Amino acid sequence: MTRSVLSALDAHAAARPDALALDDVSYAALRDASLRVAAKLHDAGLRAGDRLAIYAENRPGFVYAYLGGLRAGATVVTVNVLYRSSDLEHILSDAMPSVVCVSAQSAQYVPAQDGRTVVDLADVEAWAHDASIEPLAGPPAIEADDVAILIYTSGTTGRSKGAMLTHGNLLAIAEQLGEAWRWTPSDTLLLALPLFHVHGLGAGLNGTLVAGGRVLLRERFDAPSVVAALSAGEATMFFGVPTMYVRILEQAGDVRFDRVRLFVSGSAALPATVHEDFARRFGISILERYGSTEFGFALSNRYEGPRNAGTVGFPLPGVEVRLADPVSGEPIDAGGTGEILVHGANVFTGYWHNEAATEAAFARDAQGRRWYKSGDLATFDPERGYTINGRLKELVISGGFNVYPIEVETELLRIPGIRAAALIGQPDAARGEIPVAFVEVDDDFDAETALATLRERLASFKVPKALYPIDTLPRNAMGKVEKPRLREMLATSD
Ligand code: AMP
Repeated sequence: MTRSVLSALDAHAAARPDALALDDVSYAALRDASLRVAAKLHDAGLRAGDRLAIYAENRPGFVYAYLGGLRAGATVVTVNVLYRSSDLEHILSDAMPSVVCVSAQSAQYVPAQDGRTVVDLADVEAWAHDASIEPLAGPPAIEADDVAILIYTSGTTGRSKGAMLTHGNLLAIAEQLGEAWRWTPSDTLLLALPLFHVHGLGAGLNGTLVAGGRVLLRERFDAPSVVAALSAGEATMFFGVPTMYVRILEQAGDVRFDRVRLFVSGSAALPATVHEDFARRFGISILERYGSTEFGFALSNRYEGPRNAGTVGFPLPGVEVRLADPVSGEPIDAGGTGEILVHGANVFTGYWHNEAATEAAFARDAQGRRWYKSGDLATFDPERGYTINGRLKELVISGGFNVYPIEVETELLRIPGIRAAALIGQPDAARGEIPVAFVEVDDDFDAETALATLRERLASFKVPKALYPIDTLPRNAMGKVEKPRLREMLATSD
């Protein structure tokens, strides 16, 4: 039998049927629930090879629908629940799901269409617990190369594309993290990351099911309740995005997280200041990892440490990473900045119905092996590992000099009174672009003093030529700053 996340779930259900998998649901109950839901989804018209879209918040029903869809041999398409008509219609018309799972809140945004059945997650949850439903008879065999999920990329550049991750990819992603982070059946993960994203689904849920641990699913991130649960020792692991750690620091007061053995951050750069504050306050060094929808995860601080602020460590087991010149593709000399290329069983097979984008996303080496071109820039140091310098497309080139946003943002955040910062390039007749920053600041913030401090710390071409105060930076569902929107704001304010 081909090994997969489903086969791992079944193995745990057979060996430790009563062990808890999802909240208070055991492995055996979860396995049975997934087979019942598969049967009902089949009744609703879902066939092997079809797409099943899930457009809903984090609920147990999401997990049942996901596992049921995979059991039925379908490809599960997870849709960002914050998307509205324009993104949603694009994804639904691109992926053409035969069944769409919605929640009471999201249902209103899905237009009725012939040949497509809309299913309420509340019904999925009821099926999961209804022992009178017969499990799917003769579930289709799952092959490692079958496409398990389609996740649409954030779409900051043009229309979002569906990244196809196979059953083999999902298993590799979960196993790589399991090995690197010493994940065991005794672990409980508090999961407040959205399941529609690879961080929540591929790392959080699948990682748990493959390791045989337990996941406590939260519908959304709520800092007080997360702090309460973690300080009460309800979980051994917590995965977050940087903004969650900022909220935890604001919220935590005089608590300790003694039972939590691992805090992980990713999906955007963890500001060095946040890493340092967390270490000072709680005696805990957050483990930062680097990943993307297209390959799950590639780099991680070492479990044993040291976990240096601002670095993302070394390749995960089974993952190869190298740095290349983004134009020529040539390897980068030691210490230089290059584009991150990733190779491994975790790397996706391509974009759904988009040969041109797939072709453009990969480079081939002399042996003909495919390397995914991440579009992210980094440097490598043999002692400290990789440091991410930001997206290639977000690099600011000013008068011929490269300004790496993350480096400047790190310095901005060290200035008292700046709570959040985002550096972008502003078009400039003389220099092509000049660096400017949008900043969330306290009331007593003084821009002139801040710029004077920056001039002492940074080369002059890197110092923002303007600091634009903003109430709240625009962020996506993962807390990542949406720089294209900042650029639009600049363009329209002229
Ligand atoms: P997504 O596909 O939504 O997961 O976004 C992936 C992108 O997030 C990567 O290509 C990086 O630009 C960014 N990213 C992920 N992890 C990190 C990290 N630890 N530091 C900096 N950027 C990151």
